[in-house]
Amino acid sequence: MRQIVFATNNAHKLEELRQIMGSRFEILSLNDIDCHDDIPETADNIKDNAKMKADYIFSHYNIECFADDTGLEIDALGGEPGVYSARYAGPGHDSEANIDKVLRLMHDTPMDQRTARFRTVITLIEGNGEYHYFEGRVEGLILTERHGTGGFGYDSIFQPIEGDERTFAEMQSSEKNAISHRGRATAQLVAYLQGK
Ligand code: IMP
Repeated sequence: MRQIVFATNNAHKLEELRQIMGSRFEILSLNDIDCHDDIPETADNIKDNAKMKADYIFSHYNIECFADDTGLEIDALGGEPGVYSARYAGPGHDSEANIDKVLRLMHDTPMDQRTARFRTVITLIEGNGEYHYFEGRVEGLILTERHGTGGFGYDSIFQPIEGDERTFAEMQSSEKNAISHRGRATAQLVAYLQGK
């Protein structure tokens, strides 16, 4: 079976991809290839960050691989937190603190100006060194308080435009995956690989 490394150890992301592609591709994690390095992701945009992670694996392990990076872009905050989404409130990667910061900064922002989007970029490097990029996005609104307890990250304050006024945190994961940034980027990757 064709092996391909997903430059992550996020169990949830791995499981999702394995379910979709399991029969034709063996998806390996960083643990599976014994990579325990702190892979640099120091670029100032998500596309370059995804590329940086994939480049690292391809250059050190010479194996077909892909990496993803996601950012939440809030228009009223000039596109922040963007590439800094995981560590917006500090290096601790604390989702609750990140949400508190967003809600504080947007305290006076009226509803019609609370537009935002999640964007995911996946960089694939094929065995011959060829690069491919896949992007998924979902538009939505940043609510004034948390709704729901599912999901992770900013899910409880993000209400997608396509839907029925629930946040991502109020949806089943299958409902979220069907319209989410990562779901869409992943679907493109899968379509590309399955077409090969
Ligand atoms: P990553 O590139 O997938 O690690 O995402 C970076 C950060 O964006 C995460 O730490 C979360 O704060 C946020 N994020 C990414 N995807 C989602 C999502 O689906 N819902 C809510 N927050 C997300």
